[in-house]
Amino acid sequence: MLAGDVVVWSVPLRSRFRGLTVRDGVLVRGDAGWAEFSPFWDYDDEESASWWRATREAADEGWPAPVRDRVPVNVTVPAVDAATARRIVLASGGCRTAKVKVAEPGQSLSDEVARLEAVRDALGPGGAVRVDANAAWDVDEAVRRLAVLDRAAGGLEYAEQPVPTVEDLAALRRRTHVPIAADESIRRAADPLAVARAGAADLVVLKVQPLGGVRACLELAERIGLPVVVSSALESSVGLAAGVALAAALPELPYACGLGTGRLLAADVTLDPLLPVDGALPVRAVVPDEAALAAAVAPDDVAARWRERVRRVCALPARGRDQA
Ligand SMILES: [Mg+2]
Repeated sequence: MLAGDVVVWSVPLRSRFRGLTVRDGVLVRGDAGWAEFSPFWDYDDEESASWWRATREAADEGWPAPVRDRVPVNVTVPAVDAATARRIVLASGGCRTAKVKVAEPGQSLSDEVARLEAVRDALGPGGAVRVDANAAWDVDEAVRRLAVLDRAAGGLEYAEQPVPTVEDLAALRRRTHVPIAADESIRRAADPLAVARAGAADLVVLKVQPLGGVRACLELAERIGLPVVVSSALESSVGLAAGVALAAALPELPYACGLGTGRLLAADVTLDPLLPVDGALPVRAVVPDEAALAAAVAPDDVAARWRERVRRVCALPARGRDQA
């Protein structure tokens, strides 16, 4: 499985994100093109199997035909200070939507208010601001905090996974006027349809690798029946291209997608990375190049860890897509 074209990449992040300062993963070349495998290290082998299915889809089959040629994206603002947040929005490549990380350990509500005010100021009144709390709050805390953050943002487009469980999301949704997006409740759940059944969200976030590929996501979107925001898993441009392929193939795309994360990486695996222009990404293939990889290639110990991980995940018994 590892014979042929396999590259392990590792690059620093510009700001701490999801507790990480470095992002790494594997690129694999198959008949259909280059593919990425980059489950975060807190995903075990079992949970990484769906990421590998997405990798094989990209490498071996390619993706369904697009119905659009550009995908509007949000700028992602990590849990940074207000001045940095403003700078990130202004340097976003024309994004009209910002997704702002909140609920960072060690930060206060006033840090978040300052960040949101700076983002709103940088976007102007016509922009859209959403927050992502990564399941950090309980329902009462979410009700309180969203009221404050909604005011600071001059109106929130939606709040992504403010609370951990489907039941919490459903309870919160009855107590706030801020629309609710489900992320972790879809991608790390045994039953991703539970969100829709419980009336727990106004929209869902789908990520190609954790959910097992573009086709698996298209099927899931159809079964869930709610608007979809396609987001990245902080991939290199090769992985981002899979998210773009999903966003490009969805019948409806009412929201900007969370695929403008290329700028969070200090380097990429190609000299022509997928970065927003006029607030959107083009729908196109991405091919890594040697010049970029020279600066992004992983140290030997990291490369060895990834090769071992791929070997283990490949050795797991195959599961059908319906069980994904
Ligand atoms: Mg999220």
